[in-house]
Order: sequence, then structure tokens, then C-alpha cells
Amino acid sequence: MEANEINAMYESMGISRKVLALAEEVEASLKERFLAIDETAEYNQLKVIKAMQKNRVSDIHFAATTGYGYNDLGRDTLESVYADAFHGESALVRPQLMSGTHALHVALSGNLRPGDELLSPVGKPYDTLEEVIGIRESAGSLKEYGVVYRQVDLLPDGSFDYDGIRAAINEKTKLVTIQRSKGYATRPTLSVERIGELIAFVKSVKPDVICMVDNCYGEFVERIEPTDVGADMIVGSLIKNPGGGLAPIGGYIVGKQECIDQASYRLSAPGLGKEVGASLGLNQQLFQGFFLSPTVVAGALKGAIFAANIYEKLGFSVVPNGTEPRYDIIQAVTLKTAEGVIAFCQGIQAAAPVDSYVSPEPWDMPGYDAPVIMAAGAFVQGSSIELSADGPIKPPYAVYFQGGLTWYHAKLGIMMSVEKMAQAGLIEL
Ligand SMILES: *Cc1c(COP(=O)(O)O)cnc(C)c1O
Repeated sequence: MEANEINAMYESMGISRKVLALAEEVEASLKERFLAIDETAEYNQLKVIKAMQKNRVSDIHFAATTGYGYNDLGRDTLESVYADAFHGESALVRPQLMSGTHALHVALSGNLRPGDELLSPVGKPYDTLEEVIGIRESAGSLKEYGVVYRQVDLLPDGSFDYDGIRAAINEKTKLVTIQRSKGYATRPTLSVERIGELIAFVKSVKPDVICMVDNCYGEFVERIEPTDVGADMIVGSLIKNPGGGLAPIGGYIVGKQECIDQASYRLSAPGLGKEVGASLGLNQQLFQGFFLSPTVVAGALKGAIFAANIYEKLGFSVVPNGTEPRYDIIQAVTLKTAEGVIAFCQGIQAAAPVDSYVSPEPWDMPGYDAPVIMAAGAFVQGSSIELSADGPIKPPYAVYFQGGLTWYHAKLGIMMSVEKMAQAGLIEL
């Protein structure tokens, strides 16, 4: 196909020639990086196929179970596939884990007991975890159950405060929670290698402490996962990376047998654990989504890098910047004004396959402390492996952009966001 035929198509969808020219220039500069992303996807694709072959995945595993879900062969096999692909001993991969926050709550509350201490050595955790832990007063929090929370912030240069961490660990410290992705913070995302260094340090101070990693948005970005560098549990959401866009719901916890068993008694009930939980006909989507995840993550990463380079060129500060290595699929762009955040999100929405005709507005979302605007024209509600953008309406007016089931869709969304910013008079092209 002629390049100008593609451009005519873009123009018919509302992308101006100036934005097209900018996009072409930026994309041309990213060839080598895109190649490296494709190679990581190839490696991770093989990792998933290998785990599926080892577990002899077969179409009988796609059958639905109902009721208690005893002997759900598909569910048990899916959990073995996750455990093998992520190099853990055991896994919980369930539609009954309703979100990432729920999976993290199950992992924490299943493994902590009254009087235990929970430590975050990487600063404040993701917003919704504040209420789970009780950092913000909340009914049913871990704090109400007598779990004490301690936090050691990263040093101003982003490095670990090893002295502070050593001082915070004591005989009551039971579990250390490490968030891989930056979430709604502007600190850098941690590489798996750095997470490994932190875990090694924590275990050198107290060998029996459980190290849990909130792995949201990190899966398949690198060739190793935190379980490869000593994490006892990794936790994430299936409507982010590992669901590959096909999982309609779910979360996972992968790691040491004992940690997973403890979590399972909290998810279902003491004595029942992993033995119950019908898969309701979702197994095939969960297997197939996991199979697609490495390439979907690659598309999302390309979109994030493309966005970083475009917005950097337009004079905005972006985290990560246009050239630095990537450890998650999130791109933060500081747009400096509320209008900028809104225009950006409206552009992402306008490029969506679903609900492209609606215009997102900020709202008071449960679990967050400022109004949040969210753009998502998603097949699965709230899915953020699908192209989506969100930002709290508060300084520094940063928008967090992620996902894209295909690179082409991510590209269109970013071009449309630039178009909306230009139309609102917020940028000069
Ligand atoms: C998304 C996310 C969560 C919470 O997941 P939900 O599925 O939105 O509940 C927790 N931690 C991090 C780092 C996340 O990105």
C-alpha cells in the first residue's frame, strides 16, 4: 500500500497533515527500539508456549464449570501455566479475584496476622492500597485487624534508603511490599534487576520475611519477572498485561506454595483454599489472553515510547523520557494544566473502537483522593491493557497513558491526543 493511501485514511479520521508529519518523523527515529521490543516479545512468547506445552493444555481445559467448581481441570491447569511461565511454585488465577486491588488485598490479608508489620521500602503504594492497608482510614482495612504499616521512602535521587530500610525491619516485620510500577507517582518504575537487589538486601537483614511485588503493568515488559530474582509472591490484574485484552475479569498471585495457600484460604475460606471456585466458562479467554499477552504488551510499549518522544518534542516533561529503558507500560506526561489533561484524554477517547463518540469528564472515583478523568473506549470495562489514559485533576496535572491492544491503535490514539491539544490551543504545531 502507498504511504499516501494510509495518510489519506488518517486524514479522513481527523488527523491533520501537521500531526501526520510529526508522527512520521518520530516513528522513523524509533526503528531500533521497536526491534528490541519485538525481540523481548518473541522470547516471552516462547516462554508462554513452553509453559502451555509442558502442562499439556488441551481443549478439555476450556470447558466451563459451575457451582463449587470442584476438580476444575482447566482452572488448575491455567494456574500451573502461570506458575511455570513466571517461575513460581504455585498460582491463584481466578475470575473471583475481581481486580488488582482485590488480588493484592487477598495476598496481604492472607499472609498477615494481627501484630505483624507490613513494610513498603519504596514509598507510598498505589492509591487504592492506601485504604486496603489503612494509611487512609477505611472500614475493613488491615490496620483494623491489627497489622501495623511502615514505610521507607526512596531517596531524592530515586535510590533505596538502605539504612532506613534496615532500621525499619524488626522482629514483627512479616511482609515487605514492593511496587514495580510508578502508579500515580512520578518516581521511576523499578527494573526487575533493582527489585532483585532490594529483595536480596531485605532477606540479608531478615531471611524469613515475605517479599511481595505488586507486578501491575510490568508483566512481559522484560524477559524476567520478580519471581526470577527472589520475590515470594507477585500479584497483578488480568485486565492489565497478562490478560492480553481477552480476559474479561480476574487477578493472579504467583509464588511460593505456602504464600499462595495462605492467600487461597482468604480468597475462599479456611479449609477450602484452591479447591473451590468455578471458572464459569472463562478459561479459554484466560488461556488465550495469556498467550497473546507478550505481543500485546509489545504494542503497548511501542505506543508508550512513541508518546514519550512526541510529547517531549512538543516541550512537555515525560516520565520515562524518550530514550530511557522501559520497565512498565505506563507513560506519564505532565501537561501542566487541567485543560491539557482533559484534551489529552478526549483525544484518546476519540480514537477508540468503542464509545469514540463520548467525551470523558473528571469524576470522584472511589478509592482516589482527587477527581480523576479516564479515557477508555474499551471492550472490557476499565481495562488498561486497552488504550487508556487517566489523570487526577491536581498538580502537576500529569496524565498516565497506557495500553493499546495493537500498536496501530496506540499510534492513532496518540496522534488524536496531539490533535485535540492543538485544537484547544494548548500547543503550537
Ligand atoms: C492498577 C494497579 C493496581 C490496582 O489494580 P486495579 O485492578 O485497578 O484494582 C495496584 N497497583 C498498581 C501499581 C497498579 O498499577
